[in-house]
Amino acid sequence: MSAEGRIHQSMEELVGGTPLLQYRLPGVPEGVRTLAKLEMLNPLASVKDRAVLYMFRAAQESGELKEGGTVIECSSGSTGISLAALCLVHGLRCVIVMPDNATVERQLILRKLGAEIKFVPHGDGLLAAWAYAESLQKSIPGSWLPHQDTNPANVLAHYETTGPELWRDTAGEIDVLVCGVGTGGTLTGVARFLKERRDVHVVAVEPTRSAVISGGEPGPHGIPGIGAGYVSEITDLSLVNEVIAVSDDDAAATSREITQATGLLAGISAGAAAHAARILSRQPRWSEATIVAVFPDSGERYLSVGSD
Ligand code: PMP
Repeated sequence: MSAEGRIHQSMEELVGGTPLLQYRLPGVPEGVRTLAKLEMLNPLASVKDRAVLYMFRAAQESGELKEGGTVIECSSGSTGISLAALCLVHGLRCVIVMPDNATVERQLILRKLGAEIKFVPHGDGLLAAWAYAESLQKSIPGSWLPHQDTNPANVLAHYETTGPELWRDTAGEIDVLVCGVGTGGTLTGVARFLKERRDVHVVAVEPTRSAVISGGEPGPHGIPGIGAGYVSEITDLSLVNEVIAVSDDDAAATSREITQATGLLAGISAGAAAHAARILSRQPRWSEATIVAVFPDSGERYLSVGSD
């Protein structure tokens, strides 16, 4: 690549193209290859940069997103941060509806990016937060609500970028995909792309305390970003071969193990995915497999809630 080729012109050009890291946690058998897709290396440091860019561009093209308009979204953090950055560079007003237990880091980053925050009681659940965001949108003329859990561009982002990157970087040698489910955009887009090419075993990860895909009850839990308490309409469960529920403690402890093993600060949902990947690695069926886990964000977003 020429020197000029390495100079990017905007934050948008930096989205995606994240690296895969081979890592090994204690207890993972030698014959198994565990790989992490490092989504914290996106410009705003989470997997959500991809979905947000796709939703934003689709809305610009359809005319839903107007110059000088207002963007409203419901987000516990990552999506809001990605949106706020895009709004900043496009001169748009950004209003983020977020549960009042979102980490202080996320609130501070949103404010730094110029977003307005509307807090909703976390005990009321995400569906109540969505209802509030929708009423807000109706009251602000010319505003756009991306609605990440119904927006097909969320899935398309992963079908067109994350999935192909994984396929290319593993040279098609991927047996198991392990992915946390929040909106389900990452899992649905990546799994759809990979399964069109190979019979990849797709494992959805959710919190034990809100294990709705496994048929459990929704509830409050300690793994931000996954376990919304309902299955979103863009989540395609027919792509899921297995569901693994992970406790809050196992997710947090495994996130610390990732740091120990790699030197990287991984978020709590990354810890949940790595915990599930380790469980799978011990099954005889996968004794020589390549298992890929998606690490959605960085542990820097959770320093204020860490236990050590
Ligand atoms: N982990 C974290 C930290 C997230 O912010 C998200 C996005 N909500 C996810 C996992 C899950 O991603 P998705 O919405 O694509 O299911």
